[in-house]
Amino acid sequence: MSAPAPTRPTAPVLRPADPDAGLPANAFGKEKGVLEQVTLYVFVVVPFLALAAVVPAVWGWGLSWLDVGLAVGFYSLTLLGITVGYHRYFTHGSFKATRPLRIALAVVGCMAIQGPVVQWVADHRRHHAFSDREGDPHSPWRYGTDARALLKGMWHAHLGWLFDRRQTNAERYAPDLLKDTGLRRTSRLFILWAFLSLALPAVIGGLVTASWTGAWTAFFWAGLVRVALLHHVTWSINSVCHVVGDRPFVSRDRATNFWPLAILSAGESWHNLHHADPTCARHGVLRGQIDISARVIWVFEKLGWVHGVKWPDPVRLAAKRRTAATAAS
Ligand SMILES: [Zn+2]
Ligand SMILES: [Zn+2]
Repeated sequence: MSAPAPTRPTAPVLRPADPDAGLPANAFGKEKGVLEQVTLYVFVVVPFLALAAVVPAVWGWGLSWLDVGLAVGFYSLTLLGITVGYHRYFTHGSFKATRPLRIALAVVGCMAIQGPVVQWVADHRRHHAFSDREGDPHSPWRYGTDARALLKGMWHAHLGWLFDRRQTNAERYAPDLLKDTGLRRTSRLFILWAFLSLALPAVIGGLVTASWTGAWTAFFWAGLVRVALLHHVTWSINSVCHVVGDRPFVSRDRATNFWPLAILSAGESWHNLHHADPTCARHGVLRGQIDISARVIWVFEKLGWVHGVKWPDPVRLAAKRRTAATAAS
């Protein structure tokens, strides 16, 4: 397969003058407070510093098989919390889940340290409502289409948008989740789940090796580095997967399929199909498109933990396939 090339629209998608024009009056809720803003910086910057320090870390104290195992285990669990839980289930309702699984998905999603489930869902629903147009919280096309504007836009879509003090109004965009008292409480305990996400690898590493060094290296690799990698893979869906890659399906935006991230993102990088058919439980619908999240949902279905799964509908997909006539759009 050849490396995907950036594909730019010929006309500006957004009016750079006011990227938030057209938003409904109640699109934003309460502004973030100072404490929330400081916590956000800590959760973004500290794991990133760990990512930057991986080479000297390997050089200095090495990397044990236990660290690798814990890192892969916690990465997979928390990634699926985002892809299967936050995204396909809570945001888009691609399937229905039993009560214990519903709460478990919210908890492991919180453990990815990308914010409480209610806020994540509200932001993501606003992204779909306005994707690559005015009002999208994280479009890489926000500032225009020339190289400089696109670079600035990609930074904004990847990370910069997180620091906007205005927050998407969950009462408008996620009223269904707010109505569920148990889920709302689970979401509010986000800091606890985030803390456990970093503490558990350290505890396991320390107990298994019976040493403080084992606790520290497990915390570094399976805590900090794992969170940083997952952050940047998830954020790449917002930045890279709206700019670089293929668009085999017709969607209202610039969403792309970007195969190099298919495994690391558990199928989320088949983002063009996702925007073409947002409630579909499988995003990698074409031959050879590996979608681990869809496989996990399939296993849950076999176990009887989920039902009403919205699997791909061949007729619907055929209608959304890009043809020679639509290729120019
Ligand atoms: Zn998108
Ligand atoms: Zn989505």
